[in-house]
Amino acid sequence: MSQVKKHSAYQRYRLLSKDDLELPNLLLNENGNGELFIGEVYCRVQGCTNGHQFQTTNHLRKHIAKMHTQMTLETSGQRGGRPTKPEEAKAIDYDIRHADDHTKLLDLPLRKDGKGVLVTMMKKMVKDEGLPIPCEQCILDGKQKECCHESVKDTCEHWQLFADPRDEDEMDVDKEIIEELDEA
Ligand SMILES: [Zn+2]
Ligand SMILES: [Zn+2]
Repeated sequence: MSQVKKHSAYQRYRLLSKDDLELPNLLLNENGNGELFIGEVYCRVQGCTNGHQFQTTNHLRKHIAKMHTQMTLETSGQRGGRPTKPEEAKAIDYDIRHADDHTKLLDLPLRKDGKGVLVTMMKKMVKDEGLPIPCEQCILDGKQKECCHESVKDTCEHWQLFADPRDEDEMDVDKEIIEELDEA
C-alpha cells in the first residue's frame, strides 16, 4: 500500500463526499493531459455532475475515458508499480489541503471545568472516524500510550481532527485587541 493511503488526511478524503470536499477542477499539465493524484477517487473534470466515489483511481480513469472523451489523462509513470516519492508527496499535500480545508473539525470533548480533555471520549470519537489508535506519528515517536493525550497535542495526528474551543477563546481575545487597535 502506498504511503498516501495510510495517511490520515487521505483517509478523511475517502470518508467525505465530493460535495463536502469542494474540489478544484482537474487542470491540464504541460503535456495538455489531465493529471490525477495518487489515490484520487472523485471526478474533477469541469462540469461533471457525477459525485460517485470510485473504488479505485483506475475506476475513475475508466469513467473519464468513457464520459469525458475530450480529456486525455497523463499515464507516464503511473501505471502499476509503486508511485515515486515526489508523486506521493504531491498527493499527500493535495489531500491535506483539501481534506483539512473542508473537513468540519470535531469538537474537542472537555471536562466540565472546560480545561482538561476527556481522553476516553476523544478516543471513541477517533475510532468512530474509522482511524486506528495509536496514530502513526505517536508510534514513530514511541508514544503509543500517550496517543490522544494532551501531552502529545502538537504531534499526535488525531489532535488535528479536533477544534479546541480553548484556542478559540484565545483567538477571540486576539480579535478584540485587533478591533481595539483599528478603532484607535
Ligand atoms: Zn466525470
Ligand atoms: Zn496520536
